[in-house]
Amino acid sequence: MNKRVAIIGAGPSGMAQLRAFQSAGEKGADIPDIVCFEKQKDWGGMWNYTWRTGTDENGQPVHGSMYRYLWSNGPKECLEFADYTFEEHFGKPIASYPPREVLWDYIRGRVEKAGVRPYIRFNTTVRQVSFDAATKKFTVTAQDFSAGTTVSEDFDYVVNACGHFSTPNAPTFPGFESFGGRILHAHDFRDALEFKDKDVLLVGSSYSAEDIGSQCYKYGAKSITSCYRTAPMGYHWPDNWEEKPLLQRVRGNIAYFADDTHKRIDAIILCTGYQHHFPFLPDDLRLKTGNRLWPLNLYKGIFWEDNPGLIYLGMQDLWYSFNMFDAQAWYARDVILGRITLPPKTEMIVHSLAWRAKEEKLVTNQEMFEFQGSYIQELLDATDYPSFDIEGVNRTFLEWKHDKHHDIMGYRNKSYRSLMTGTQSPPHHTPWLSALDDSMEAYLGEAAPALKAAS
Ligand SMILES: Cc1cc2nc3c(=O)[nH]c(=O)nc-3n(C[C@H](O)[C@H](O)[C@H](O)COP(=O)(O)OP(=O)(O)OC[C@H]3O[C@@H](n4cnc5c(N)ncnc54)[C@H](O)[C@@H]3O)c2cc1C
Repeated sequence: MNKRVAIIGAGPSGMAQLRAFQSAGEKGADIPDIVCFEKQKDWGGMWNYTWRTGTDENGQPVHGSMYRYLWSNGPKECLEFADYTFEEHFGKPIASYPPREVLWDYIRGRVEKAGVRPYIRFNTTVRQVSFDAATKKFTVTAQDFSAGTTVSEDFDYVVNACGHFSTPNAPTFPGFESFGGRILHAHDFRDALEFKDKDVLLVGSSYSAEDIGSQCYKYGAKSITSCYRTAPMGYHWPDNWEEKPLLQRVRGNIAYFADDTHKRIDAIILCTGYQHHFPFLPDDLRLKTGNRLWPLNLYKGIFWEDNPGLIYLGMQDLWYSFNMFDAQAWYARDVILGRITLPPKTEMIVHSLAWRAKEEKLVTNQEMFEFQGSYIQELLDATDYPSFDIEGVNRTFLEWKHDKHHDIMGYRNKSYRSLMTGTQSPPHHTPWLSALDDSMEAYLGEAAPALKAAS
């Protein structure tokens, strides 16, 4: 009987797995029976925007953490698929920092071309996964909200591609109970216009704080204060943005900080990260990790060492994203197809610990993305995923970091050369700060006729 593979999630990682199998099938391989379970009604994971917060229409926790007006926070040249370029998708070179809708369109384009949508059961949440040591099968129990049924099926492999930027890590601070304004986690942030003319406090100093603060600035917040636990972000912020050491408490609408200063604020946004949260997995199959470059217990960053039939995609902290998911998905595919044989568990652990030891020595951003690049290279060397210029991607990351330090509100006006096609991307037609319309039409310079007429 054909092997059966369950994929949990049809975000970029799950879509990469589907495309990897389709690509092998296209070249003549016998591919397994695949079922992809996706709790949302459409594919694209995080990139499939929802206005909802809290629970979705099925009473499930809302997956999406993306917000309106989000533009890629890194150059698209660093995440480009090697087998489906931006130029192929859009029919022309486009600028380097596309808004969410444009990236969503791009990732959909590849899998639409591959014709893999029929493998996906939408509106279906995986509730439980278990493993039977006697039969060596996984049982996946999923609730189909369209059919109103819950069904259990057996699989030889389970690919967990459910993402890890969905379940908030939300600390509390003294005085929150009686704070006079709104407190929310970044997961529930949707529209920066809500904070127009407001004094906003961001707790955290990572990408969420940087980008949500920038959105609030762009859409008219009165002031932005961000506070850090260990170190400030250190960019050259606009005049109405200041960085402070960590919040200690709030009283009424006054926030008190570790340097004994205080400030009146209207709203608090907790940019305090996310948890790897897999409620459908039993303890012995569940990855427990913080957001880091080398989580332990995953051979090649992919295979659950205690039971390598369980595959995790995209669980690392992300410098690279879409093309790293591809490298992982191609490798996982080749293990499932029997093209690559996994070593015994002891060797897997030695391999993982060696990578972890290297990870622990990383200090600079450059060392971190180069580390992730060399990990991806190791995967690429083992499969037929089109090889691409990892060193070139690393150089683009470095340029991007410099651009950000030079001008945090202007770095998205820069453009870079594609490492896949060699084409230099054009500059965007409007500086990011004044580009308030994030629609695909506006971005691609194809304003709808009515809008053109009105302008
Ligand atoms: C605010 C924000 C901004 C970001 N910006 C960028 C950026 O600019 N560039 C970049 O490269 N990356 C960015 N990222 C990272 C982003 O998470 C990745 O680009 C990518 O979406 C990860 O893909 P994934 O498939 O692993 O996970 P996700 O995109 O999270 O997809 C996981 C899928 O699994 C489904 N799922 C979850 N649980 C279940 C279940 N129990 N049963 C069935 N289905 C389930 C979800 O519905 C979802 O569709 C950003 C993330 C956030 C939160």
